[in-house]
Amino acid sequence: MITGQYTKKDVYNNVKSPTCFSAKGKKFKQMKTSKSQELYNRAKNFIPGGVNSPVRAFKGVGGNPLFFKEGLGPYLIDADENRYIDYVGAFGPLILGHRHERILEAIETQLSKGIGFGASTEAEIDIAEKICKHVHSIEAVRLVTSGTEATMSAIRLARGFTNRDKIVKFEGCYHGHADGLLVKAGSGALTIGEPDSLGVPSAYTELTHVLPYNDTEAVEEYFDAHGEDTACVIVEPIAGNMNCVPPDISFLEVLREQCTLNQSVLIFDEVMTGFRVALGGAQSIYGVLPDITTLGKVIGGGLPIGAFGGKAEIMEKIAPSGAVYQAGTLSGSPIAVAAGLAMLEVVSEIGFYEELHKKTKLLMSGLKERASEANVPFTTNQVGGMFGCFFNTNEKVTSFKEVMASNSESFQTYFHEMLSNGVYLAPSMYEAGFVSMAHTMEEIEKTLDAASVAFRAIKKN
Ligand SMILES: *Cc1c(COP(=O)(O)O)cnc(C)c1O
Repeated sequence: MITGQYTKKDVYNNVKSPTCFSAKGKKFKQMKTSKSQELYNRAKNFIPGGVNSPVRAFKGVGGNPLFFKEGLGPYLIDADENRYIDYVGAFGPLILGHRHERILEAIETQLSKGIGFGASTEAEIDIAEKICKHVHSIEAVRLVTSGTEATMSAIRLARGFTNRDKIVKFEGCYHGHADGLLVKAGSGALTIGEPDSLGVPSAYTELTHVLPYNDTEAVEEYFDAHGEDTACVIVEPIAGNMNCVPPDISFLEVLREQCTLNQSVLIFDEVMTGFRVALGGAQSIYGVLPDITTLGKVIGGGLPIGAFGGKAEIMEKIAPSGAVYQAGTLSGSPIAVAAGLAMLEVVSEIGFYEELHKKTKLLMSGLKERASEANVPFTTNQVGGMFGCFFNTNEKVTSFKEVMASNSESFQTYFHEMLSNGVYLAPSMYEAGFVSMAHTMEEIEKTLDAASVAFRAIKKN
C-alpha cells in the first residue's frame, strides 16, 4: 500500500461546477474557457508569448494555453473550474500526483524552520546519501537548481576532467537550454520549428556533434574519427523529449564501450528518467552505467532542483575540491531538499515502481484497444510511468526519423478532443506523457472513454 493518497471526496468538494464530466462520466459537455482566455490575453501584455516556458504554449496544437489554479491527486483544475485528468505532472516531477500529503508536510515542516541559509544543512547530506544509494553509478553528487544547470555543469566537468573540448549529443534529445546544446534540440525547439536558437554563436556549437539516436554505427564511425578529442557523450538513456523512445540496449552498450576505449566521459541525462522509470533510473533497467548522471524533476518533489553526480574521481574536480568552477546561491535549497527527501522516501517503498508500471501499461493497452476499435493506426512506447503515443503507424517507433513521421494532424485532433473530454496532455507531440501514483483505475477508464471519442474524431477527419 502506498501511503498518502488523495481522497476523491476532496477533488469533488474543491470543484464548484465541474463542466467536463457529467454525473455518469460518459457524456461530455462543451467546456468554457473564458477565464483562461482572459488571463492569457492579460499575460501576453507582460510575459513574452504569455508563458514562462515555450512548452506551455499551444503552438504545436493550435488554440490558447489554459491557466490552472489548482491540482489535487491526478487532477488539474483550470481557471474556469474545469477538471482534467493530468498526464503532464508538471512535465515530470509529480510522480505522486498533486499535493501529496507527505511532500506538503515536509515543506511545511521546513518552512517553519527557515527557507534558506546560504550554508550547509544535514538534509543535503541525507539526500546525497539517498541518491548515491539508489543510483549505483553515483558516488558523489552536487545539487543545483534546474536540469539545465545540471547538464551544463556536467559537461563543463567532463571537459575539465578530460582536458578535451568536443562533445556528442543525439538528435531529438534535449538537455536543457545551454548554448552548446541548442543544436537541433528536441521538444520545444522542434515544436516551434526552429531546430537552432538565435543568439547562440556558432563558435559555441562547433564543438557539439549531433548523431542519430539508437544508431550504433554512427557512434562507432564518430569515435573512429574524433574519439581522442572527445570530452563526453551526453544522452537521454530513454529519450523523453522527442515523445518517448526507449534505447536499444546495444546502443547504450556501444556508447559505454566507445567512451571507455577513448577515455571520454559518458553522461546519462536522467533529469526525466531518474526516479521516474525505476528507483535506480534508466541505467538500472538496461544495466549500462555512465560516468556521470544528471538528475532533476522527480528528485525535487515538484520544487526547483537539479543534480549531477558520478564517479568520485571525476566529481572531485569540482570546486572547491577541484578546479572546475560551479556554484549556486540557491543550490541545496532546504525547501526543495525537504520535498525531494520526502519524495525519495515514498518512491522507495516496496512495490512502488511495479504498481506505477502496471497502471501505465493498463492505460497503454487500453489506448491501443480503443484505437484499433476505431480503426486508427496507433502505437505506444512505455517505460515505467513514462509513455509516448504515435499516430501514423502500428510499428515500433525507435528513432527520431520515425517520431517525425508521426501524424501531427491526428495528434492535434487527439489533443483537443482529449482536452474537451477532461484529459490534459502535454500540448506537443514531442513530449512524453506521465502517469502518477495518484491515478486510479477510475481515471484510467475515464481517459480511455475520452480516447474512444478522440480516435473516432481522428477517423472522421
Ligand atoms: C527537463 C529536462 C532537462 C532540463 O531541465 P530543466 O529543469 O527544465 O532545466 C534536461 N534534460 C532532460 C532529459 C530533461 O527532460
